[in-house]
Amino acid sequence: VDESVREDMNKLEDTFPGISDRFRLVNRIGEGTFSTVYKAEDLLYDHYDNDWDIFGQAQAQEQEAWASPPSKRRRVAGAHGRQRKARYVALKKIYVTSSPIRIQNELELLHDLRGCRSVCPLITAFRIQDQVVAVLPYFPHTDFRIQYRTFMVADMRHYLRSLLTALHSVHEHDILHRDIKPTNFLYNPDLKEGVLVDFGLAERHGAEYASPCLCTHQSYVRRSRILSSYYSKNPPSGGLSGGYPKNDSRSSRRANRAGTRGFRAPEVLFKCTSQTTKIDMWSVGVILLTLLGRRFPFFNSADDIDAMIEMASIFGTRRMKTAAAMHGQIFETNIPTIGEKGYSWEKLVKWSSCVEDLTESEQQATRLLAGLMELDPTKRLSAEEALQHEFFTSPVH
Ligand code: ADP
Ligand code: MG
Repeated sequence: VDESVREDMNKLEDTFPGISDRFRLVNRIGEGTFSTVYKAEDLLYDHYDNDWDIFGQAQAQEQEAWASPPSKRRRVAGAHGRQRKARYVALKKIYVTSSPIRIQNELELLHDLRGCRSVCPLITAFRIQDQVVAVLPYFPHTDFRIQYRTFMVADMRHYLRSLLTALHSVHEHDILHRDIKPTNFLYNPDLKEGVLVDFGLAERHGAEYASPCLCTHQSYVRRSRILSSYYSKNPPSGGLSGGYPKNDSRSSRRANRAGTRGFRAPEVLFKCTSQTTKIDMWSVGVILLTLLGRRFPFFNSADDIDAMIEMASIFGTRRMKTAAAMHGQIFETNIPTIGEKGYSWEKLVKWSSCVEDLTESEQQATRLLAGLMELDPTKRLSAEEALQHEFFTSPVH
């Protein structure tokens, strides 16, 4: 362990006096915008049942929560079946720059999802003043950026089945993860299983209850077609101000756009105010596209507008206009290389991976890809539907 990491780990030990009685910090394994994650050995793992969940008592006992004897803890493990003891744990120190509500939200959602297969369980959490640490079982995994190149179709199938299994449970709980991407799905190729982590941006469905988006109206499909054909006959002209209808009394839109660039669903970019669990399914599609196309990251635009342009170069302007109109937005571009029609997924996968022909199983995967990267969220596959796809149910070898 290098010097700066050692120093950082010492600091954590200083912040939580007594932490070393229970955990031996091994290394720093993740450093993100909202947290730092350390690998640690649970020294009392033989002694204490660390599959106990004391969230809920954490506030009352925050200072000694991690050290309190089992008898003081509320047992929930029995309610959701077997949980293994974890000798190694991941300590996720959530930065104080995260709002307390956000931190509470992450821990609460993880608590709700305890016992869900392929979702990383929360062992416990503790807090001293504004410092919060979540304790999760350590899950050995490989680095996607190294792994994806070597993936055969069978590996893609295992990877996706595990990810979709996790999302199926998460979505059943009416929770949107919002940040589905390889670094938040820890995959272990030996086990052929992964665990979903990082519920830092997750939310309950319908949490932001603003005015519902146009796409929730029954007749939206018809209306969006009319709108989109209106806009193609009457393209906005002149400067930006000519770009939208006159007498537009709508207040400027505010929608949750949290997520990671390259993985945001079209309705997130179009600021849909009625986003659903389908936004996660789009991101799964982006991962599959990365695997099939053998390019990571596949999309790499810095902002939402560029992201729409990337999408338009695949889907073509016609479908992008319809998608935008569905959410009450207008899509226009004068970039000459972006055609009206777009390309088929099969063609894109071949181009991207530089192969002439796709095997039977790659074709199945490509059809699954089409169902996931569907612009219209109401037509996009759910996790449950995706798991029933031919790619999983009738694999060809
Ligand atoms: P952030 O909000 O900072 O992205 P994450 O929860 O995604 O935090 O964790 C960051 C990184 O730490 C992950 O990408 C992963 O490499 C590592 N990590 C997180 N949880 C675990 C775990 N339970 N086991 C092993 N590694 C983990
Ligand atoms: Mg993360």
